[in-house]
Amino acid sequence: MAEMKSTSSHCGLDNGPVHAVPGLFCSPDERLIWDHHVAEAIHASYDRVASGGVAPSLAGDIFRERLAEFTFEEPRPLADNIAWAMEQMEQGLVHVTHQRYFGLFNPAPSLPAELADRITAAFNPQLATSKTSPVAIEVEKHVIRAFAKRAGFPREAGGHFATGGSEANCTALLCALIKANPNFVEDGVRTFGGAPVFYVSDDAHLAWYKIAVQCGIGHAAVRLIATEADGRMDINVLSAAIRADKGNGHIPVMIVATAGTTSAGMVDPLHACATIAVRYGLWYHVDAAWGGGAIASPTLRCDLDGIELADSITIDAHKWFATTMACSMFITRHTEILQTGFFVATDFMPSLVRDMDPYMTTVQWSRRFLGLRLFLSLATVGWQGHGEYVERSVELARLLKTTLRASGWRVLNESNLAVICAVPPDGYLPVREIAQSVVSSGRAWISCTKFKGREVLRMCTVNGRTSSEDITMLVRLLESVGVQAPVESVG
Ligand SMILES: *Cc1c(COP(=O)(O)O)cnc(C)c1O
Repeated sequence: MAEMKSTSSHCGLDNGPVHAVPGLFCSPDERLIWDHHVAEAIHASYDRVASGGVAPSLAGDIFRERLAEFTFEEPRPLADNIAWAMEQMEQGLVHVTHQRYFGLFNPAPSLPAELADRITAAFNPQLATSKTSPVAIEVEKHVIRAFAKRAGFPREAGGHFATGGSEANCTALLCALIKANPNFVEDGVRTFGGAPVFYVSDDAHLAWYKIAVQCGIGHAAVRLIATEADGRMDINVLSAAIRADKGNGHIPVMIVATAGTTSAGMVDPLHACATIAVRYGLWYHVDAAWGGGAIASPTLRCDLDGIELADSITIDAHKWFATTMACSMFITRHTEILQTGFFVATDFMPSLVRDMDPYMTTVQWSRRFLGLRLFLSLATVGWQGHGEYVERSVELARLLKTTLRASGWRVLNESNLAVICAVPPDGYLPVREIAQSVVSSGRAWISCTKFKGREVLRMCTVNGRTSSEDITMLVRLLESVGVQAPVESVG
């Protein structure tokens, strides 16, 4: 038979052999070369980042001009694009990996977590169903069970990985709504005779407002409960608020205790909140998004006493377990509620295992293999290694506290965790200006927050690369910018 002549088909496609698109897909050997290439580029970049400024040096408008050159009409070599992207990131990000980033719990990622990201990308498993990714799903379930056990939950407890504390907390509110009235799954909030409300402390994470919107109950459903002088939820105010809401025909569904507030590391009274939740038949959620890291340490675990009484908890691995971003956990003793709430029957999915398939028990559908990062990291250093990591964070916080106090500063939050809220002695510049000068110096990164209505400097010491010398340097910097004009910047 004569070879078929390739003719032009419609859309100008040739009916010849179909090749991979070069630049998008390549041979294993080529891939190895690129992996080495990127590894070396990252290696070189680390040194520049560590010795450069923590804050971005690149102005947004300059960068947008550079970006505008990418019209995507002409291909450019991958090596150039990688170099370009990394150079921009070096100049245009707050470097959370920098040893003097004392910021918002975003950690310098651990080595196993970073490597797990690359490995996950190579296999790119779809975790929607147990049929397609049985091994990955078992790995995640294993890690979740280990955390549930560590938290003191019963054997039947379960849960799943989530993209962040916000997603995990949103799942908690959905569970609370379903528990309060299972018809919520069918009829939504219409099923409640009154407005569903839930309780968080006035120092809780602001994402609760967005979560209230996502769940269709609105900002008005968020009841902010006053905190005591130490920044922990006032239990009497909580009880009174629940009684008042019930009296007014509202439908209380959940109490959230924060175990490690974002701004000050305060732990709400976990036992008392549990008792009140039981008394009024409410879902009890403990938001341990960052404070949950303490679970790894035998000495710090006692700060979380009472977490075992929760109906559900949130722990972000991407905070005090030092994974790369978008890795959180939702853990609950009522896995049947997840199965009720997220159940869908479809023909097109490869499997339908109600207690196994994440697409039927979580808010996500297509899922990334998030848990490998925590698995590899725990497998490599164990609870003990993670315990040492959180303990050293706390030691650094203590060192910072004592050094600041020795210079006449006051530390306002009585937290055992790794965050400090401090104010300078009289005669110093306002804290906002001090934070600004620290950040623009490029030598360290800190933030401002309010603690008990007062502006404070907030410094968090969860970065695994921070040393005692970095703490000394930070205090020296605070002392110099606190009383005079900004110091000259680096980087
Ligand atoms: C960070 C944080 C959140 C939000 O979690 P994301 O992972 O940023 O979505 C919620 N609650 C607390 C206490 C937090 O610290």
